[in-house]
Amino acid sequence: SRVVRFCPSPTGPLHIGGIYVAVIDRNLATASDGRYVLRIEDTDQSREVPGVKEQFQRAFEYFGLLPDESDVAGGDYGPYLQSAREAIYLSHVRELMRRRLAYPCFATREELAETTARQQAAKVPTGYHGEWAIWRDAPQGQVEAALAEGRPYVVRFRTETSVGERVSFVDAIRGRIEFDANRNDVVVLKSSGQSPRLPTYHFAHAVDDHLMRVNLVLRADEWLSSVPVHHQLFDALGFDRIEYAHVAPLLKQADGGKRKLSKRKDPEASVDFYLQEGYPAAPVLYFLRGLINGRLAEMPQADALAANIQLDQCGVSGALVDMVKLGGICADHIATMPAAAVLAAVTAWAERYDAELAKVLAAQTELALRALAVERDGHPNPRKDLQKWSDFRPVYGFFFPELFALVNDPAETPLAELPADVVRTFAAAFVDTYQPIIDPQEWFGQIRTLAASHGFAASPREYKADPGAYHGSIREASQIVRVALTGSTRSPELHAVAMALGTDEVLRRVRAVAG
Ligand code: ATP
Ligand code: GLU
Repeated sequence: SRVVRFCPSPTGPLHIGGIYVAVIDRNLATASDGRYVLRIEDTDQSREVPGVKEQFQRAFEYFGLLPDESDVAGGDYGPYLQSAREAIYLSHVRELMRRRLAYPCFATREELAETTARQQAAKVPTGYHGEWAIWRDAPQGQVEAALAEGRPYVVRFRTETSVGERVSFVDAIRGRIEFDANRNDVVVLKSSGQSPRLPTYHFAHAVDDHLMRVNLVLRADEWLSSVPVHHQLFDALGFDRIEYAHVAPLLKQADGGKRKLSKRKDPEASVDFYLQEGYPAAPVLYFLRGLINGRLAEMPQADALAANIQLDQCGVSGALVDMVKLGGICADHIATMPAAAVLAAVTAWAERYDAELAKVLAAQTELALRALAVERDGHPNPRKDLQKWSDFRPVYGFFFPELFALVNDPAETPLAELPADVVRTFAAAFVDTYQPIIDPQEWFGQIRTLAASHGFAASPREYKADPGAYHGSIREASQIVRVALTGSTRSPELHAVAMALGTDEVLRRVRAVAG
């Protein structure tokens, strides 16, 4: 069985690529009866953003990707926060130092910069290696003197690699890979000037993944080139090496090409974006699941997390995040939900992100249900008008008197092409004669009759044949009612809207247009 882990750093909002990787983690752990561990990599405390850990937790809850072990869930292999593991790292560093596989390095930032400049001038690879590694074989007395002076130091790993040495390994996604062996004496423990004394990513990865008995390291492929260092550290620490699977980054189509989806440039790169906009979790997971091996259509949505993932079928070139496609998948998903379920989801979203809407929905639950039921429950071709919960307000807001801006100036409505007095007279007559008839055909019949007696042609064709004789056709006459009731020239089926609003509200809105 597989023990996998997901290890975000709390230095900013979670990248949607993190959810993508967590989907694979969750899937592989579940499919093998294994464990999925969440470890927070908070070793860069100066860059930590307060509140981000709680955001991670909320995102995992939202997407149903809660780990089996974490700081919150508990587990036998913690602590699951790296900042709480100082003593564990220090004991392993001491052991390496005792075996002369690690040593303190007192080089200052300035000295290191100067070394780099000299290496560049001499056209040798930059880095802390060979004769340039000045503290590597420093005499004991010199080290003791520096310690006695209290000079800050890092601890470096002593690399034994010959020039030209190559290493190779098998990645579970990419197959066999070959690299130059690492020749740098990498830092394993950060500066002694800081408290707590924390490890570098490389060292913490080796220690934590070993101690947390992880047997598959799934991570973004920006870490691929670090594997040679990681293998050296595992070997030196006497740990068995772990299998790696390096996941290609999510991409975005931009400027005629593809590039990495980036939090700095693309709002949709942040997980928070999906929560704030209210994308339903299930279709987002289904979409991400489809990107893993490019076979979206092959599985039912409900199986997105369950359907087995084969690592060797994962793409290596990076999948494209197409927000139009995601929007379509979400709209299809929401269209199949009963009105009551949509209302529950919109309400839960609004309670967090749109307080005014939440208040309106709480006060007007019946109206909200009637509005959502229009062309939805049991309809052969349900409306696909919501891609996300934040769409509710622009699409359905007009149903609620509190959210509807009354169209009281016909000149400002999309009906401006009709003379204002024609609109007013027609609206006034509508109010005088309106019947809340249940049958849609009969209900429209009263508009037809009204239109005929107010100078509108019975059909667009008739109007076109003699435009001078009419104000417009039945189409324009209906639009007066539509704009009055919905504030827009496009809306759900008008009779259903009128039934959902109720007679009083219908008359109030048309009366406002009548002036
Ligand atoms: P930037 O805006 O600088 O590109 P970023 O979007 O890469 O930032 P980081 O904070 O650098 O975000 O990355 C955080 C985590 O998100 C890393 O573990 C990284 O592997 C992952 N990540 C970043 N970009 C992608 C991507 N395009 N696809 C998948 N995962 C990504
Ligand atoms: N904390 C690392 C990051 O966010 C984790 C990489 C890994 O999964 O090993 O990039």
